[in-house]
Amino acid sequence: MAQTYEFQAEAKQMLSLVINSIYSNKDIFLRELISNASDAMDKLRLRTLTDSELKADTENMQIRLVPNKDERTLSVVDCGIGMNGEELRELIGTIARSGTAEFISKIKNSQSEANSAELIGQFGVGFYSVFMVADKVTIETRKIDEAQAYRWESDGNGSYTIEEIEGERPQGTTITLKLKPVDEEDGISDYTSEWVLRDLVKRYSDFIAYPVVMKVTHKHDDEVTEEDETLNSMKALWARSSDEVEAKEYNEFYKHIAHDWNDPLETIAFKGEGTFEFQSLLFIPEHATPDLFTAEFHKGVQLYVKRVFIMDRCEELVPDYLRFIKGVVDAQDLSLNVSRELLQKDRQIRAINKGITRKVLSTLGTMKKERFDVYKKFWGEFGRILKEGLFRSPEQNTTLLDLVLLPSINSEELTSLEDYIKRMPEGQDAIYYITGENRAVMENSPHLEAFKAKGYEVLLLSDAVDAFWIEMVDNYKEKSFKSVLRSDVSAENEDEKKAKEEKLNERKKDLASLLSWMGSSLSEQVKEVRLSSRLTSSPACLVADGDAPSPAMEKMMKAMGHEMPPVKRVLELNAEHPLVEKLHELYEERHDDPELKSVVEVLYGQALISEGGELSDPGKFAHSLTDILTKVLSK
Ligand code: ADP
Repeated sequence: MAQTYEFQAEAKQMLSLVINSIYSNKDIFLRELISNASDAMDKLRLRTLTDSELKADTENMQIRLVPNKDERTLSVVDCGIGMNGEELRELIGTIARSGTAEFISKIKNSQSEANSAELIGQFGVGFYSVFMVADKVTIETRKIDEAQAYRWESDGNGSYTIEEIEGERPQGTTITLKLKPVDEEDGISDYTSEWVLRDLVKRYSDFIAYPVVMKVTHKHDDEVTEEDETLNSMKALWARSSDEVEAKEYNEFYKHIAHDWNDPLETIAFKGEGTFEFQSLLFIPEHATPDLFTAEFHKGVQLYVKRVFIMDRCEELVPDYLRFIKGVVDAQDLSLNVSRELLQKDRQIRAINKGITRKVLSTLGTMKKERFDVYKKFWGEFGRILKEGLFRSPEQNTTLLDLVLLPSINSEELTSLEDYIKRMPEGQDAIYYITGENRAVMENSPHLEAFKAKGYEVLLLSDAVDAFWIEMVDNYKEKSFKSVLRSDVSAENEDEKKAKEEKLNERKKDLASLLSWMGSSLSEQVKEVRLSSRLTSSPACLVADGDAPSPAMEKMMKAMGHEMPPVKRVLELNAEHPLVEKLHELYEERHDDPELKSVVEVLYGQALISEGGELSDPGKFAHSLTDILTKVLSK
């Protein structure tokens, strides 16, 4: 008896998007089916390597295409690992990929069809693409070590059925499509035609490591014979010299291993020579998938040993900050049944990781120099991830700092550090930066006033990772990085400082009692209140003393669940500001006026707000502010 099941909500939405044919290239369903079949046979082969009890012929595995013109069906048959009933529901009936819901709403909100097609291409929906060309799809499958086989069936309209198949069935999966009528205008070719299938396999699946076979008919002097023909060359692309391989072939290979529908942004074919030999074919995708930024993301490239597939995502081969890299590594001297534990310690794997890292970084360097437009695209997608390298792999910092693009105050576009230095005006001798919530908040921060007045460049760092790496790097091209949020950093040179200091010292004497009174009434919030010359138009700002963490760092650490001792900063006052003058007058006249305390609290509060900080007691702040406003208005 067949049981009926509903597709999971996200899967349903995805199916309807696919069926309503927002993707124009319908031919690719075959590539997806062959790719899945090939994966299933890889999985079976791996199982037999680790489980000696398992009896399966993995020597003569092939993928078979069976077109039937009369029935208008096409079957793709593999002898791979197969699926049991539960897996049919979990793997086919649901989409487990994180970020699916947001992705679907993005597509729905996208205005143009072309845009939706691009979006769905980014995501890739694998198996569901069959519903672009079929009215009904049947999967018959048996899992390798289970006796019961199952039949899954659906027309793609929200539900599917599963039933047990009686009798024996070889292991593996047969997927049969009841094809829609040929409609060249709508991009649906005749997928029962020998020529169409031959062409599609050649175009999209030539590199697949298993033979894709089909029965073909030969006519010879009225005599009709049938025989199996292998449609693909099965050549391992990474083993071929890159000038023999066409970009198209690389692109199709990328789509197979990355489960992406778009071409890669960059292809890197690279052989390692010397002590450890390896061949590799690496790709930088065009888009970052949402899961890259989640903890569940599983990085890695495929590992082969002398052309034998070993594992799908070998994480030891790429550092975390290059986790967007897809590709294949074929190592010459590893043992075939190398375990995960051994991999971590393996010298060869470590050497390959190093080689890959160096090669990818140098490729990015060249891209930045020679194709800056493409590089900007890369940076927009993966820059945040690459920056993690600055604190994870400090030994690469010189190279990584050459690659970063950052927002800076005098530049609309992101700037490289090299250009930043070129734009530094006379007198600026350090790389100044500010960390904060977003560009607008940072640009209006009181800390920048003196720097802006001098036309200095200041990096505006607002990515979450910025707070980390910026504390780990010391300098770039002998210019040190300095935070404008620190008390010992100012825009003035020595002479200017000296000139101002005298004046400031005078004022300090005048204001000494006010400053110390303010210090004690704000003792919960700040370490000290003092005068400064860093401000031009704002009355006050907060700066960090010594090695206190920056507010951005403090926020990050808290968000990550770390306990942080409260950090007290220094409240600096603008000695020239009328507000400070008035405050002083008032203080001299009436030490014990309660209004004084309100003014001081509001002054502190606005210093915090102006740098994008959060008040610990907004209610109290509002209360003090209201008092002051009432007073002003009733004058
Ligand atoms: P993807 O291949 O990108 O994971 P698909 O929608 O193409 O997504 O397939 C979903 C899952 O269904 C696969 O990951 C695989 O586990 C399973 N699957 C699909 N086709 C086969 C097959 N021919 N044999 C075994 N399992 C398969």
